[in-house]
Amino acid sequence: MTKWVYTFDEVSEAEALVGDWENVRGLLGGKGANLADMTRLGVPVPPGFTITTVACNAYTDAGGVVPEGMWDQVRSALDSVEEKTGKKFGDPKNPLLLSCRSGAKFSMPGMMDTVLDIGLNHEVAAELAITSGDEFFAYDSYRRLIQMFGSVVLGNPDEPYEEILDEFRDRYGVATDAELPAEALKEIVERFLEITPRFPSDPDEQLKLAVEAVFKSWTGKRAVDYRNASNIPHDLGTAVNVQTMVFGNLGENCLTGVAMSRHGATGENHIEGDYLFNAQGEDVVAGIRATLHLEDMETDMPSAYNELLAIADRLEKHYRDMQDMEFTVENGKLWLLQTRDGKRTAQAAVRIAVEMAEEGLISKEEAVMRVTPDQIDFFLHPQFTNEDRKGAKDEGKLLAEGLNVSPGAAVGVVAFDADTAVEWAEEGKKVILVRPETKPDDVHGMLAAQGIVTSRGGRTSHAALVARQFGKPAVVGIAELDIDLAGRKMAVEDRVINEGEFVSIEGTFGEVFVGELPTVVPDINDRWLSSLLEWADEYRRLRVLANADYPVDANRALDYGAQGIGLCRTEHMFFEAERLPTVQKMILAETTEDRQEALDVLMPMQRGDFQGLFEAMSGKPVIIRMIDPPLHEFLPAVEELEAEKAAAEAAGDGAAVAEVDRKLGRIDDLHEENPMLGFRGVRLGILMPEIPRMQAQAIIEAACNAKENGFDPKPEIMIPLSVHVAELEKVKAVIVDVAEEVMAARGVKVDYQVGTMVETPRAALTAGELAKEAEFFSFGTNDLTQTTYALSRDDAEKSFLIEYVEQGILPVNPFATLDPNGVGGLIKIAVETGRAARPGMEIGICGEHGGDPESVATCHELGLDYVSCSPFRVPVARLAAAHAALNDAG
Ligand code: ADP
Ligand code: MG
Ligand code: MG
Repeated sequence: MTKWVYTFDEVSEAEALVGDWENVRGLLGGKGANLADMTRLGVPVPPGFTITTVACNAYTDAGGVVPEGMWDQVRSALDSVEEKTGKKFGDPKNPLLLSCRSGAKFSMPGMMDTVLDIGLNHEVAAELAITSGDEFFAYDSYRRLIQMFGSVVLGNPDEPYEEILDEFRDRYGVATDAELPAEALKEIVERFLEITPRFPSDPDEQLKLAVEAVFKSWTGKRAVDYRNASNIPHDLGTAVNVQTMVFGNLGENCLTGVAMSRHGATGENHIEGDYLFNAQGEDVVAGIRATLHLEDMETDMPSAYNELLAIADRLEKHYRDMQDMEFTVENGKLWLLQTRDGKRTAQAAVRIAVEMAEEGLISKEEAVMRVTPDQIDFFLHPQFTNEDRKGAKDEGKLLAEGLNVSPGAAVGVVAFDADTAVEWAEEGKKVILVRPETKPDDVHGMLAAQGIVTSRGGRTSHAALVARQFGKPAVVGIAELDIDLAGRKMAVEDRVINEGEFVSIEGTFGEVFVGELPTVVPDINDRWLSSLLEWADEYRRLRVLANADYPVDANRALDYGAQGIGLCRTEHMFFEAERLPTVQKMILAETTEDRQEALDVLMPMQRGDFQGLFEAMSGKPVIIRMIDPPLHEFLPAVEELEAEKAAAEAAGDGAAVAEVDRKLGRIDDLHEENPMLGFRGVRLGILMPEIPRMQAQAIIEAACNAKENGFDPKPEIMIPLSVHVAELEKVKAVIVDVAEEVMAARGVKVDYQVGTMVETPRAALTAGELAKEAEFFSFGTNDLTQTTYALSRDDAEKSFLIEYVEQGILPVNPFATLDPNGVGGLIKIAVETGRAARPGMEIGICGEHGGDPESVATCHELGLDYVSCSPFRVPVARLAAAHAALNDAG
């Protein structure tokens, strides 16, 4: 006979049956497993029992039929509870009242709400009024039962009940239900019964219906939607916990509250929480009355407080994590009603993990594993402080809540369409883009905005995906937000926000506030974050370098823990306003001499930049990529030249007109239909060897200068976009010639290497040949993804790519997360054949994948030596690399 029901003191039996604690949680649900576990630990928990998730699944599978033998087992479990409490379910003289609570393996909104005070009817309530000596209590509990049963079990709307309560508060001229006299409650009970004709007066019937309602709620729409959105399997089922009621509403020596063993926002090792005297159930979280701070309980009710403190400490030691507890004090006696690992902010997660390791409660490895790379990322985003959020809520500034799909805080004026967002952003305004939902047409506005808000859409909506991808805070799916695009305004109930007014959004919590909240950026040198990242460094195998083009970026990268520069894009130096005309002159030159003239001007500028990088990164590799982008990116706009020509014509300057014509002709020559697949990368160096020559000279002279200044430069010269070894042979020879020349002339020796980027399938497939010339490889995974998928990143993200992800054709955007099979497969071949040809060669990736945790794990598996990412992502990559190594080891 299957055991469908476990009393709270049968947890060891359950464990023996299913093996380990994870499975016990699967069988009894998280809430039930912990209630039973606390009972075993000797923590005061009101007696009760759990109907298993297996029973729920059997019920669902049978199309809504309770499995055979289950009610009998419930009856014997009830017998045992009656014996422990000395009370009897349904007995008016000495009634046992019960709560019925849902509880799946993972805590899950959408499951059935708790029904309290089961077992009351006219007779029982009347007796309870006498035995408790508190008529108000008896009828208040009874009316709560009818109301909860009506709305939760029978699915009645809540409003009619609230309207009746309103009516009575008005009639008696009181502000809260707690101030109503007992006779009023008696009358309310009758009125509630009138609108709840199906309320069963038989306690057994109440319990059965409540249990079945919990089973049914597992397949209810809310629960199914939530599981779909959060990737929770549908076959877990929910358990049902039936538990003896304890009363926090039985007078002034009673209270109910919630507590966290450590501070959920800051992580400080001090219990925090709220409570209410003479209250029941969710009164504390419902915010009907102002709650009291837990510290006050120390004076209000010292012995219960001290016991709670001791229990919190024991539970933390037992679960080895911060606990979130629900408790009730009935006539001075403390009862625990729930405990679970507490939710926390990113900062709190870091501090708690580090302090628990320092306390010896968990190991350093566990501490590192307890913080997610995303949390580190969040650490480095602007945020609202918890005080400010709370303050704003107290002032009634919370406009609405939605799905928290992309973390971080953002403040700006509301814009209702993408073009307005872009226009205002260009004027220097900070903008929040608000749309019913977003489409590919809106992407330019999303990029220009600080944050994104939508009234429709879920966790995988276009808005959510794009926001996460670009690191924009976003709150989506705010159903109550009424957007009037034509009227350029939005409203929640009667609160109206016009376009151009400020809102503040908090993507971590899914909140939208009216007005401007101040933001703060947490400190990277925070003591706990520093410790955690240092520990992560002990475990990781991948090195983490940074993409940095200027000495200031290099210094920031060092601050964030970068071990060198994995990609310096020299063309960024070319784009600087005062250099661009010279660069254009170089490109538009038609003779080598003319080109050389321009290069001679650029050389010392580049040399200065490089020297700064070498000095900042002394002793660490600095990988410098030869100029790469398609040439057209540097060229002046044709309209501009045409205007210039018109001016020259008007002035009658024939020579100037001819020069503009020459330039226009040259631009025409250089025009390409497909510049991304055109004259770029190493191809430029092949046809214009004076460019790599100039760059090599700048690099080696800069290294000589740095060395003479007492630094230890480690230049690595990287040739982009090679597809054939012959390209490398040719350009490498140019570089080596210059390097030897410079070093001989200067009488200084620097260690340098020449390597290549691997960015095309052909390069990857012939890596063994490339490695004969290249001393190192770096995978340019943006281009490698483009060339592997045959899609242009710039265009695809605007059109079909996001749609592909929404439809599930691609699991993720391959430009955000490295494709482990396709692109990863090419990398694998290149690593193996490259290392076979040149044992021990350094291989890494550069490009934004290097800062994406999942991609970092892929790089670890592929056996790369390093990842390189933007300086801000370096801490994320450090932790992700440690996770990959620890997962590998474990
Ligand atoms: P949730 O999963 O929404 O937290 P719970 O099952 O924990 O729902 O129940 C909500 C609240 O109901 C609890 O925090 C507690 O205050 C109250 N409650 C539940 N069971 C009991 C009980 N046996 N005695 C007193 N209060 C209870
Ligand atoms: Mg609830
Ligand atoms: Mg709870």
